[in-house]
Formats: sequence, structure tokens, C-alpha cells
Amino acid sequence: MKGRIVVAVDGPAGSGKSSVSREVALKLGLTYIDSGALYRAVTWFYLERHGPLDAAIDFGSELGAIALTQDFLSDGTSITVVNGTDVSASIRDEAITRNIGVVSDAVPVRNFVNSLLRRWASSRSIIMDGRDIGTVVFPDADVKIYLDASVEVRALRRIKEYGEMGKTLDENEVKNLIIQRDTQDRSRPFGRLVRAEDAIYMDTSEMTRDEVIGEMCRIILDRRGADPSPRQDQSGS
Ligand code: C5P
Repeated sequence: MKGRIVVAVDGPAGSGKSSVSREVALKLGLTYIDSGALYRAVTWFYLERHGPLDAAIDFGSELGAIALTQDFLSDGTSITVVNGTDVSASIRDEAITRNIGVVSDAVPVRNFVNSLLRRWASSRSIIMDGRDIGTVVFPDADVKIYLDASVEVRALRRIKEYGEMGKTLDENEVKNLIIQRDTQDRSRPFGRLVRAEDAIYMDTSEMTRDEVIGEMCRIILDRRGADPSPRQDQSGS
């Protein structure tokens, strides 16, 4: 890749953003940054302090107590640490997903996360996924991709993913949760999920994971020209 490049990938829950972005990063020598992991880590912090969360909590006033870092490993994964605790596994818990909406709605939290994301991206070529990366975090990103898929396909992918971990989920329940998260992500007053006007739209409902990865690599290389350089393990702090 010639020069520093910023690739923004947005889309709804379960559209496969994280898994394909991580793979594209490995193929093209970019650092993958998962913005959702930061919202999850902040939610973990507030859950530890308050228990179940609601919008009445003044999230902004406690942000100063959060030291949040990520180590980006060469296999494309990252380790998320909050105040010295490795929360990489616990931020995937169902309790986080249930409570994350009110945290992500809070404008001070969004500003806090966005400034970390921009700082971590400032000195390296990155691919970052989320909801508002191409609209709010990096409106000038070199490449913007909006990944979409039908609710049915996203639900089936989630069921398969959990099935591989030995867990059985009810299809209707998963669909309803996805619809609920879509509504919440799309109606947020600041940083809501919306397709940037200049984003390339990809409906992946009928595509395999490998096809999505191949198409994304083609789009990125097409925009910037090939010459991937190896990526080092780095930390965002
Ligand atoms: O991507 P992931 O599903 O891990 O994101 C979890 C939640 O974090 C989203 O449902 C949303 O509430 C929040 N989020 C956000 N903006 C982003 C990334 C995630 O509000 N850029």
C-alpha cells in the first residue's frame, strides 16, 4: 500500500464486518481496529461500577476514570484492556450487548471513543469497522464500504457462529434482537448508523465470506494501488 490509508467499514449488527475486516487487514498489511470493542469496553466499566445501566446515569462524569488500551497483534486480533484488566473475552458477554445501547447513545462517551480511535489510527494504515466510521470518525477516509445483509441472513449467520461454539439459539429470538439493535443503532441522535453518501454499498446476503473478502481487497487495491507492506505488532494507548 502506498502511503497511509484509512478504510472505513460500516454496517448493521451481524453483517460480518469484524470477521471480514480482520481478514482484509491481514491480507493487505493494515491494522484492524474494532470500534465496537471500545463501546463494549466502556460498557463493561460502567456495568462493574453500577450494575444494570439506564439513561439516567451521567456517563460523561466518570470517563476520566477509564484507561482504555488495545494491543494489535500480528494475527489480526487485539487485546482490550480497561484499567489493567484484560476484558477481551468478557466484552463479548450477553450482558454487555443488553446494556450497550444507553452507553453508545451518550455523546460524551462517543467523543471519548472517537478521540481514542483517531489517535490510534494517526500513525498507521488501518481498516476500522463500526456504525459511524465513514460519517463521523473518518469522514475523509480513503475508502468507505457499507456492508449489509438481510435480517434473515444475519440471524442465520449468528446462529451458525454460536452453533460452532456448541450453543443453540432460537431463530425468532435472534431476529428480534437484531431488529431491536438495528432500530437503536439507526435512531441514535449522534453517530447513528447511516450509509455515507460516498460509501460503496455491498449487500452480502448472497455472498460467501471469501467472496466478500476478495471484493473488499479488490476495492481497496483498486483505489490505492498494490504494494502491501508488513504490519508490526503495535499498541494503541
Ligand atoms: O460492532 P459491535 O456489534 O461489537 O458493536 C456493539 C455496539 O456498539 C453497537 O450495537 C452500537 O451500540 C455500538 N457501536 C457504536 N458505534 C460504533 C461501533 C459500535 O455505537 N462505531
